[in-house]
Amino acid sequence: MLIIPEIHEMQRWSDSARRDGNRIAFVPTMGALHEGHLTLVDRARQHADLVVASVFVNPAQFGPNEDFDRYPRDLEADAAMLHDRGVAALFAPNRDGMYPDGFRTTVHVAELGGMLEGGARPTHFDGVTLIVTKLFHAVRPDVAVFGRKDAQQAIIIRRMTRDLDFGTEIVVAPTVRERDGLAMSSRNRYLSSEEREAALALPRALKAGFEAYRDGERNARAVVKMMRAIIESEPRVRLDYIDAVSTGSLEPVERLGAGTLAAGAVYVGSTRLLDNWWIDDDGHEEM
Ligand code: AMP
Repeated sequence: MLIIPEIHEMQRWSDSARRDGNRIAFVPTMGALHEGHLTLVDRARQHADLVVASVFVNPAQFGPNEDFDRYPRDLEADAAMLHDRGVAALFAPNRDGMYPDGFRTTVHVAELGGMLEGGARPTHFDGVTLIVTKLFHAVRPDVAVFGRKDAQQAIIIRRMTRDLDFGTEIVVAPTVRERDGLAMSSRNRYLSSEEREAALALPRALKAGFEAYRDGERNARAVVKMMRAIIESEPRVRLDYIDAVSTGSLEPVERLGAGTLAAGAVYVGSTRLLDNWWIDDDGHEEM
């Protein structure tokens, strides 16, 4: 596996691979990899001849009081895992390469970034759309794979690539969980064992809502109320939001059905965790 730190070199590699007739699939990450990320790599391989992954902790998507400085970084371990999973090239740019002096440009998807995560993290998705645009211009992928764990992110990126004619297909892959149901996340490393246990309130609440839906409940307000009560019954967890929204507009829905996303975020100590379930446009549900 090639490790490529420079944008121009990444572009040259991709152009040459494509000239040789290869389809390129891309998995962008911030590193500190776990099985959730690696499953995206497996999924990417099903869609292309060559898989490119990236590791870049993107300062633009962190707010001023967030965990950018302490975000876990271990490029060597990440590279070993990606190599073992058959990744052809790892793009690992540095901060100055991505954001040189004088950088001014923004990429903003209207409205969708203001809901859910956007409440606590108002500038977060502008940082995400900016870095994904830059990474896509470096890697020039035919297809890119994102995780459903960050459902709002996947929805916003799909909107951006359609609105701006990127020509990159966006594939969204299911959430990979620990055995006890906690969604895998690089931030789970921050949790003490007591916090780790308290964090289960989030998947427990979502699962109860998911099962209520499966049992025929369609009243969104009733399901959201039940999920909220379960989280609020765990005193070691602070609820940020829990809601059932449309996957198109991210506005709250009244009835659960095709195109509903039920998503929540909690703080456990100073660690912020996300989780969700959703019903796709064809009515298939997944948590
Ligand atoms: P991150 O490194 O947290 O920015 O995540 C990189 C990609 O991995 C994003 O598309 C995430 O949605 C995805 N991802 C993170 N955790 C999981 C998980 N538990 N299951 C599936 N995908 C995930």
